[in-house]
Amino acid sequence: MDFDRIFYDLAELDLGEILENEPMYKHTTLKVGGPARFFINIKDIEALKRGIAYCKEHQLKHMVIGKGSDLLFSDKEYEGVIFYLGNGLNEVHINGLNVRAQAGVGMIYLAYETAKTGLSGFEFMGGIPGTVGGGVYMNAGAYKYCFADVFESALVLNEKEELITLTKEDMQFGYRHSILQQHKDWILIEASFQMQPKDPQEIMEVLDNRKEKRMSTQPWNFASAGSVFRNPEEKPAWKYIDECGLRGHEIGGAQVSPKHSNFIVNNGYASAKDILELILLVEKTVFDHFHVELIKEVILVNWE
Ligand SMILES: Cc1cc2nc3c(=O)[nH]c(=O)nc-3n(C[C@H](O)[C@H](O)[C@H](O)COP(=O)(O)OP(=O)(O)OC[C@H]3O[C@@H](n4cnc5c(N)ncnc54)[C@H](O)[C@@H]3O)c2cc1C
Repeated sequence: MDFDRIFYDLAELDLGEILENEPMYKHTTLKVGGPARFFINIKDIEALKRGIAYCKEHQLKHMVIGKGSDLLFSDKEYEGVIFYLGNGLNEVHINGLNVRAQAGVGMIYLAYETAKTGLSGFEFMGGIPGTVGGGVYMNAGAYKYCFADVFESALVLNEKEELITLTKEDMQFGYRHSILQQHKDWILIEASFQMQPKDPQEIMEVLDNRKEKRMSTQPWNFASAGSVFRNPEEKPAWKYIDECGLRGHEIGGAQVSPKHSNFIVNNGYASAKDILELILLVEKTVFDHFHVELIKEVILVNWE
Protein backbone atom coordinates (compact mmCIF):
# COMPACT_ATOMS: atom_id res chain seq x y z
CA MET A 1 0.00 0.00 0.00
CA ASP A 2 1.22 3.47 -0.82
CA PHE A 3 0.96 4.98 2.67
CA ASP A 4 2.60 8.26 1.60
CA ARG A 5 -0.14 8.72 -0.96
CA ILE A 6 -2.81 7.80 1.60
CA PHE A 7 -1.41 10.29 4.10
CA TYR A 8 -1.53 13.00 1.47
CA ASP A 9 -5.13 12.11 0.55
CA LEU A 10 -6.27 12.02 4.19
CA ALA A 11 -4.65 15.40 4.85
CA GLU A 12 -6.46 16.83 1.80
CA LEU A 13 -9.78 15.63 3.20
CA ASP A 14 -9.35 17.92 6.23
CA LEU A 15 -10.45 15.36 8.80
CA GLY A 16 -8.68 16.69 11.88
CA GLU A 17 -5.25 15.97 13.35
CA ILE A 18 -3.56 12.97 11.71
CA LEU A 19 -0.88 11.11 13.66
CA GLU A 20 1.33 8.61 11.84
CA ASN A 21 2.62 5.43 13.47
CA GLU A 22 0.82 6.35 16.66
CA PRO A 23 1.37 3.77 19.44
CA MET A 24 -1.97 2.33 20.52
CA TYR A 25 -0.68 1.81 24.07
CA LYS A 26 -1.25 5.55 24.44
CA HIS A 27 -4.95 5.13 23.59
CA THR A 28 -5.93 2.01 25.50
CA THR A 29 -6.42 1.59 29.24
CA LEU A 30 -4.43 -1.67 29.15
CA LYS A 31 -1.49 0.43 27.91
CA VAL A 32 -0.44 -2.07 25.26
CA GLY A 33 -0.69 -2.14 21.48
CA GLY A 34 1.55 -1.52 18.48
CA PRO A 35 1.47 1.54 16.23
CA ALA A 36 -1.53 2.51 14.15
CA ARG A 37 -0.38 3.61 10.67
CA PHE A 38 -2.83 6.54 10.94
CA PHE A 39 -4.61 7.80 14.03
CA ILE A 40 -7.08 10.59 13.32
CA ASN A 41 -8.60 12.93 15.88
CA ILE A 42 -11.80 13.41 13.90
CA LYS A 43 -12.96 17.02 13.99
CA ASP A 44 -16.68 16.62 13.28
CA ILE A 45 -19.36 14.36 11.79
CA GLU A 46 -18.82 15.48 8.20
CA ALA A 47 -15.10 14.76 8.54
CA LEU A 48 -15.92 11.30 9.88
CA LYS A 49 -18.15 10.62 6.87
CA ARG A 50 -15.40 11.71 4.47
CA GLY A 51 -12.79 9.62 6.30
CA ILE A 52 -14.92 6.48 6.35
CA ALA A 53 -15.90 6.88 2.68
CA TYR A 54 -12.22 7.21 1.75
CA CYS A 55 -11.26 4.07 3.68
CA LYS A 56 -14.03 2.07 2.05
CA GLU A 57 -13.19 3.31 -1.42
CA HIS A 58 -9.53 2.37 -0.94
CA GLN A 59 -10.22 -0.85 1.01
CA LEU A 60 -8.27 0.53 3.90
CA LYS A 61 -8.73 -1.18 7.24
CA HIS A 62 -10.32 1.17 9.75
CA MET A 63 -11.99 1.33 13.12
CA VAL A 64 -13.64 3.82 15.45
CA ILE A 65 -12.55 3.88 19.07
CA GLY A 66 -13.60 5.68 22.23
CA LYS A 67 -11.25 5.56 25.20
CA GLY A 68 -9.93 2.11 24.34
CA SER A 69 -11.10 0.86 27.73
CA ASP A 70 -12.33 -2.47 26.41
CA LEU A 71 -9.68 -3.14 23.78
CA LEU A 72 -6.67 -5.44 23.57
CA PHE A 73 -4.68 -4.34 20.53
CA SER A 74 -1.89 -6.71 19.44
CA ASP A 75 1.74 -5.57 19.53
CA LYS A 76 2.01 -5.45 15.73
CA GLU A 77 1.32 -2.52 13.43
CA TYR A 78 -2.33 -1.72 12.64
CA GLU A 79 -2.08 -1.14 8.89
CA GLY A 80 -4.99 1.22 8.57
CA VAL A 81 -6.82 4.12 10.17
CA ILE A 82 -8.05 4.53 13.74
CA PHE A 83 -10.74 7.20 14.10
CA TYR A 84 -10.87 8.76 17.54
CA LEU A 85 -14.11 10.65 18.30
CA GLY A 86 -13.34 12.02 21.77
CA ASN A 87 -12.36 15.52 20.61
CA GLY A 88 -14.74 16.24 17.73
CA LEU A 89 -17.93 14.58 18.90
CA ASN A 90 -18.20 15.66 22.50
CA GLU A 91 -21.33 17.77 22.80
CA VAL A 92 -24.00 17.30 25.47
CA HIS A 93 -27.47 18.87 25.20
CA ILE A 94 -29.90 18.87 28.08
CA ASN A 95 -33.55 19.66 27.47
CA GLY A 96 -35.80 19.02 30.47
CA LEU A 97 -35.48 15.32 31.27
CA ASN A 98 -33.91 14.53 27.91
CA VAL A 99 -30.14 14.30 27.49
CA ARG A 100 -28.46 14.01 24.10
CA ALA A 101 -24.78 13.11 24.17
CA GLN A 102 -22.41 12.65 21.25
CA ALA A 103 -20.39 9.46 20.88
CA GLY A 104 -17.10 10.85 22.15
CA VAL A 105 -18.45 12.13 25.49
CA GLY A 106 -16.83 10.41 28.47
CA MET A 107 -19.26 8.46 30.68
CA ILE A 108 -17.78 9.64 33.97
CA TYR A 109 -17.99 13.26 32.82
CA LEU A 110 -21.59 12.74 31.67
CA ALA A 111 -22.59 11.12 34.96
CA TYR A 112 -21.27 14.05 37.02
CA GLU A 113 -22.51 16.79 34.67
CA THR A 114 -26.07 15.48 34.65
CA ALA A 115 -25.99 14.82 38.41
CA LYS A 116 -25.25 18.52 38.97
CA THR A 117 -28.48 19.44 37.18
CA GLY A 118 -30.56 16.93 39.16
CA LEU A 119 -30.91 14.30 36.45
CA SER A 120 -30.80 10.72 37.64
CA GLY A 121 -30.17 7.63 35.50
CA PHE A 122 -26.46 7.73 34.75
CA GLU A 123 -25.30 6.72 38.23
CA PHE A 124 -24.15 3.36 36.82
CA MET A 125 -21.65 5.17 34.57
CA GLY A 126 -19.80 6.64 37.54
CA GLY A 127 -16.66 4.47 37.37
CA ILE A 128 -16.76 3.31 33.74
CA PRO A 129 -13.87 4.96 31.90
CA GLY A 130 -15.35 4.75 28.39
CA THR A 131 -17.35 6.97 26.04
CA VAL A 132 -21.01 7.02 25.07
CA GLY A 133 -20.10 5.36 21.72
CA GLY A 134 -18.24 2.45 23.33
CA GLY A 135 -20.83 2.28 26.10
CA VAL A 136 -23.81 1.90 23.78
CA TYR A 137 -21.85 -0.56 21.62
CA MET A 138 -21.25 -2.71 24.73
CA ASN A 139 -24.48 -1.83 26.56
CA ALA A 140 -22.07 -1.11 29.41
CA GLY A 141 -23.41 -1.23 32.91
CA ALA A 142 -22.85 -1.73 36.58
CA TYR A 143 -24.86 -2.24 39.75
CA LYS A 144 -27.72 -3.86 37.79
CA TYR A 145 -28.17 -0.81 35.51
CA CYS A 146 -26.98 -0.36 31.98
CA PHE A 147 -27.39 1.87 28.93
CA ALA A 148 -30.59 0.09 27.92
CA ASP A 149 -32.32 1.39 31.07
CA VAL A 150 -32.06 5.05 30.07
CA PHE A 151 -31.66 4.82 26.30
CA GLU A 152 -34.28 6.41 24.07
CA SER A 153 -32.82 6.53 20.55
CA ALA A 154 -29.57 6.97 18.64
CA LEU A 155 -28.26 8.61 15.53
CA VAL A 156 -26.11 6.12 13.64
CA LEU A 157 -24.01 6.41 10.51
CA ASN A 158 -24.82 3.29 8.49
CA GLU A 159 -22.84 1.37 5.87
CA LYS A 160 -23.97 3.84 3.15
CA GLU A 161 -22.78 6.79 5.26
CA GLU A 162 -26.40 7.82 5.85
CA LEU A 163 -27.57 9.00 9.25
CA ILE A 164 -30.34 6.77 10.55
CA THR A 165 -32.30 6.85 13.81
CA LEU A 166 -32.47 3.67 15.86
CA THR A 167 -35.01 3.17 18.63
CA LYS A 168 -34.43 1.18 21.79
CA GLU A 169 -36.09 -1.86 20.16
CA ASP A 170 -33.84 -1.52 17.12
CA MET A 171 -30.77 -1.63 19.38
CA GLN A 172 -31.51 -5.21 20.58
CA PHE A 173 -29.83 -4.56 23.89
CA GLY A 174 -28.81 -7.56 25.99
CA TYR A 175 -26.12 -8.34 28.54
CA ARG A 176 -23.11 -6.40 27.18
CA HIS A 177 -24.75 -6.55 23.76
CA SER A 178 -26.22 -4.15 21.22
CA ILE A 179 -26.98 -4.43 17.51
CA LEU A 180 -23.83 -2.40 16.77
CA GLN A 181 -21.85 -5.59 17.43
CA GLN A 182 -23.57 -7.21 14.43
CA HIS A 183 -23.02 -4.18 12.19
CA LYS A 184 -19.34 -3.43 12.61
CA ASP A 185 -19.56 -0.68 9.99
CA TRP A 186 -22.25 1.29 11.84
CA ILE A 187 -21.00 4.21 13.88
CA LEU A 188 -22.92 5.70 16.76
CA ILE A 189 -22.92 9.48 16.41
CA GLU A 190 -25.21 10.55 19.22
CA ALA A 191 -27.57 8.95 21.73
CA SER A 192 -30.63 10.34 23.44
CA PHE A 193 -31.59 9.37 27.00
CA GLN A 194 -34.62 9.77 29.23
CA MET A 195 -33.72 10.75 32.78
CA GLN A 196 -35.56 11.11 36.09
CA PRO A 197 -35.55 14.20 38.31
CA LYS A 198 -33.76 13.81 41.67
CA ASP A 199 -31.95 15.89 44.24
CA PRO A 200 -28.41 16.55 42.88
CA GLN A 201 -26.92 15.92 46.32
CA GLU A 202 -28.49 12.44 46.46
CA ILE A 203 -27.18 11.54 43.00
CA MET A 204 -23.70 12.78 43.90
CA GLU A 205 -23.72 10.65 47.03
CA VAL A 206 -24.57 7.54 45.02
CA LEU A 207 -21.78 8.35 42.57
CA ASP A 208 -19.26 8.96 45.35
CA ASN A 209 -20.22 5.79 47.24
CA ARG A 210 -19.85 3.69 44.14
CA LYS A 211 -16.51 5.30 43.37
CA GLU A 212 -15.30 4.31 46.84
CA LYS A 213 -16.67 0.80 46.40
CA ARG A 214 -14.84 0.41 43.09
CA MET A 215 -11.63 1.72 44.56
CA SER A 216 -11.79 -0.80 47.38
CA THR A 217 -12.66 -3.81 45.19
CA GLN A 218 -10.94 -3.11 41.85
CA PRO A 219 -7.27 -2.50 40.91
CA TRP A 220 -7.99 1.11 39.90
CA ASN A 221 -4.31 2.12 40.07
CA PHE A 222 -3.18 -0.48 37.47
CA ALA A 223 -3.71 -0.51 33.73
CA SER A 224 -6.57 -2.86 32.83
CA ALA A 225 -9.64 -3.17 30.62
CA GLY A 226 -12.04 -3.81 33.48
CA SER A 227 -13.66 -7.25 33.59
CA VAL A 228 -11.97 -9.55 31.12
CA PHE A 229 -14.81 -12.09 30.97
CA ARG A 230 -18.58 -11.89 30.96
CA ASN A 231 -20.21 -13.43 34.00
CA PRO A 232 -21.69 -16.87 33.28
CA GLU A 233 -25.24 -17.31 34.58
CA GLU A 234 -24.33 -19.72 37.38
CA LYS A 235 -21.78 -17.55 39.17
CA PRO A 236 -19.45 -14.61 38.52
CA ALA A 237 -16.36 -15.21 36.40
CA TRP A 238 -14.03 -14.15 39.22
CA LYS A 239 -15.20 -17.08 41.37
CA TYR A 240 -14.31 -19.64 38.72
CA ILE A 241 -10.90 -18.01 38.30
CA ASP A 242 -10.34 -17.93 42.05
CA GLU A 243 -11.36 -21.53 42.49
CA CYS A 244 -8.74 -22.53 39.92
CA GLY A 245 -6.11 -20.84 42.06
CA LEU A 246 -5.30 -18.28 39.40
CA ARG A 247 -5.62 -15.11 41.49
CA GLY A 248 -2.27 -13.32 41.20
CA HIS A 249 -1.01 -15.62 38.40
CA GLU A 250 1.50 -13.86 36.12
CA ILE A 251 2.76 -14.20 32.56
CA GLY A 252 5.48 -11.66 31.80
CA GLY A 253 4.10 -8.30 32.89
CA ALA A 254 0.47 -9.45 32.85
CA GLN A 255 -1.17 -10.58 36.06
CA VAL A 256 -4.57 -11.82 37.22
CA SER A 257 -5.20 -9.01 39.66
CA PRO A 258 -4.66 -10.05 43.27
CA LYS A 259 -7.47 -7.60 44.12
CA HIS A 260 -10.13 -8.81 41.64
CA SER A 261 -9.56 -11.99 39.69
CA ASN A 262 -11.73 -11.04 36.70
CA PHE A 263 -9.30 -8.18 36.02
CA ILE A 264 -5.99 -8.73 34.25
CA VAL A 265 -3.60 -5.92 34.99
CA ASN A 266 -0.53 -4.66 33.22
CA ASN A 267 2.21 -4.43 35.83
CA GLY A 268 3.91 -1.80 33.70
CA TYR A 269 5.96 -4.00 31.39
CA ALA A 270 3.36 -6.32 29.82
CA SER A 271 3.20 -6.89 26.09
CA ALA A 272 -0.17 -7.47 24.46
CA LYS A 273 1.04 -11.04 23.89
CA ASP A 274 1.56 -11.56 27.65
CA ILE A 275 -2.00 -10.41 28.28
CA LEU A 276 -3.54 -12.60 25.59
CA GLU A 277 -1.55 -15.63 26.77
CA LEU A 278 -2.83 -15.09 30.29
CA ILE A 279 -6.42 -14.71 29.06
CA LEU A 280 -6.12 -17.97 27.11
CA LEU A 281 -4.59 -19.73 30.10
CA VAL A 282 -7.49 -18.61 32.32
CA GLU A 283 -10.02 -19.77 29.73
CA LYS A 284 -8.37 -23.17 29.37
CA THR A 285 -7.90 -23.72 33.11
CA VAL A 286 -11.51 -22.81 33.91
CA PHE A 287 -12.74 -25.06 31.11
CA ASP A 288 -10.57 -27.98 32.27
CA HIS A 289 -11.83 -27.61 35.86
CA PHE A 290 -15.50 -26.79 35.33
CA HIS A 291 -16.37 -27.41 31.67
CA VAL A 292 -17.45 -23.76 31.59
CA GLU A 293 -16.51 -21.62 28.61
CA LEU A 294 -15.69 -18.11 29.73
CA ILE A 295 -16.62 -15.54 27.09
CA LYS A 296 -14.30 -12.58 26.67
CA GLU A 297 -15.75 -9.15 27.37
CA VAL A 298 -12.51 -7.51 26.29
CA ILE A 299 -12.29 -7.08 22.51
CA LEU A 300 -9.26 -8.35 20.60
CA VAL A 301 -8.07 -6.06 17.80
CA ASN A 302 -5.50 -6.73 15.05
CA TRP A 303 -4.55 -10.28 16.05
CA GLU A 304 -5.44 -11.94 12.73
C1 LIG B 1 -11.17 0.20 35.25
C2 LIG B 1 -12.28 -0.21 34.30
C3 LIG B 1 -13.54 -0.45 34.81
C4 LIG B 1 -14.59 -0.83 33.94
N1 LIG B 1 -15.81 -1.04 34.47
C5 LIG B 1 -16.82 -1.40 33.64
C6 LIG B 1 -18.14 -1.61 34.17
O1 LIG B 1 -18.40 -1.47 35.35
N2 LIG B 1 -19.11 -1.95 33.29
C7 LIG B 1 -18.89 -2.11 31.96
O2 LIG B 1 -19.82 -2.41 31.21
N3 LIG B 1 -17.64 -1.92 31.44
C8 LIG B 1 -16.62 -1.56 32.24
N4 LIG B 1 -15.37 -1.37 31.72
C9 LIG B 1 -15.11 -1.64 30.27
C10 LIG B 1 -15.26 -0.42 29.34
O3 LIG B 1 -15.03 0.79 30.03
C11 LIG B 1 -16.63 -0.38 28.67
O4 LIG B 1 -16.81 -1.54 27.85
C12 LIG B 1 -16.85 0.84 27.78
O5 LIG B 1 -18.17 0.82 27.33
C13 LIG B 1 -15.90 0.93 26.58
O6 LIG B 1 -16.01 2.26 26.07
P1 LIG B 1 -14.86 2.91 25.19
O7 LIG B 1 -15.31 4.24 24.78
O8 LIG B 1 -13.56 2.84 25.90
O9 LIG B 1 -14.85 1.94 23.95
P2 LIG B 1 -13.58 1.25 23.18
O10 LIG B 1 -12.93 0.35 24.16
O11 LIG B 1 -12.76 2.35 22.62
O12 LIG B 1 -14.32 0.48 22.08
C14 LIG B 1 -15.13 -0.64 22.40
C15 LIG B 1 -15.89 -1.07 21.15
O13 LIG B 1 -16.86 -0.07 20.87
C16 LIG B 1 -16.74 0.33 19.52
N5 LIG B 1 -17.10 1.75 19.45
C17 LIG B 1 -16.56 2.78 20.13
N6 LIG B 1 -17.17 3.92 19.79
C18 LIG B 1 -18.10 3.61 18.86
C19 LIG B 1 -19.04 4.36 18.12
N7 LIG B 1 -19.13 5.67 18.23
N8 LIG B 1 -19.84 3.69 17.25
C20 LIG B 1 -19.75 2.35 17.10
N9 LIG B 1 -18.87 1.59 17.78
C21 LIG B 1 -18.06 2.21 18.65
C22 LIG B 1 -15.29 0.11 19.18
O14 LIG B 1 -15.10 -0.02 17.77
C23 LIG B 1 -15.01 -1.19 19.91
O15 LIG B 1 -15.43 -2.29 19.14
C24 LIG B 1 -14.32 -0.98 32.55
C25 LIG B 1 -13.04 -0.73 32.07
C26 LIG B 1 -12.02 -0.34 32.93
C27 LIG B 1 -10.66 -0.06 32.36
